[in-house]
Amino acid sequence: MQVLRTLEEVGRHIKLLRSAHRSIALVPTMGGLHPGHIALVRRAVQYADTVIASVFINPMQFDCDEDFRLYPRNEQQDFACLRANSVEYVFAPAEHTMVMTTGDDGIYVTPGSLGLELCGHYRPSHFRGVLTMVAKLLNIFSPDVAVFGEKDYQQLFLIRKMVESLNFACHIAAVPTVRDGDGLAYSSRNSYLSHAQKQQALILYARLSQLACHISTEGPDISQYAALSEEATNYLNERDFEVEYLEVRDADTLLPGHERSRRLIAMAAAHLGKARLIDNVLFHP
Ligand code: AMP
Repeated sequence: MQVLRTLEEVGRHIKLLRSAHRSIALVPTMGGLHPGHIALVRRAVQYADTVIASVFINPMQFDCDEDFRLYPRNEQQDFACLRANSVEYVFAPAEHTMVMTTGDDGIYVTPGSLGLELCGHYRPSHFRGVLTMVAKLLNIFSPDVAVFGEKDYQQLFLIRKMVESLNFACHIAAVPTVRDGDGLAYSSRNSYLSHAQKQQALILYARLSQLACHISTEGPDISQYAALSEEATNYLNERDFEVEYLEVRDADTLLPGHERSRRLIAMAAAHLGKARLIDNVLFHP
């Protein structure tokens, strides 16, 4: 596996790959790799001749300095994990390579109003930071396919919208959320949780699943969605969580779920101890 640090190196290797007619799959990550990331890599291997992973903690998507400073960093461990999973190149640039100007002087890709709902309501510049970085990576690598996780469903949705709106010639592939044996969605931020908090964290997925199951079996009664969501929110808040949002949305539009929704998604973000957890359950009404 080759480690690429600069845009010049990337340019040289991409030219070689393209002249050999090799297709490219890109897996963007922020490191702190876990089985969820590996599932993305495995999917990428199926899609293209060459898999390139990026490991870059994107400062533009953090709304809090402390969260950025504390984010898990273990480059050598991440590289070993990628090497063991058939990744041919890892792009691990310095911050100045990827972040030119910031603040009001910066040039950004800005999502529409959906970027200010759900996670975006609590982290107003988050998706602008994500989309800007993903757009840069797509321009740098021109991959045939880029792979993302359904765990960050709103992110996946907005990336797809960006690719369509800005005519990126790249297929966006999605991988279902990978969970440990107990159902906890793998996340780099799970390292902030104690053993007891990890047990507690399971309730989030359990409650979302219960909500999804209730709507699936009772039939879609939109007038109940808000009450059911509030009930689940209160349940979690009484058990050490601080819920930011817990909602039922239409999985194809991310608008509030309605009677004609073909697919629904129960999605939530909640603080537990030092971690901010997000999770979702996709289901058919
Ligand atoms: P991150 O390193 O947290 O920015 O995540 C990089 C990619 O991995 C994103 O596309 C995430 O949606 C995806 N991802 C993170 N956790 C999981 C998981 N548990 N299952 C599937 N994909 C995941």
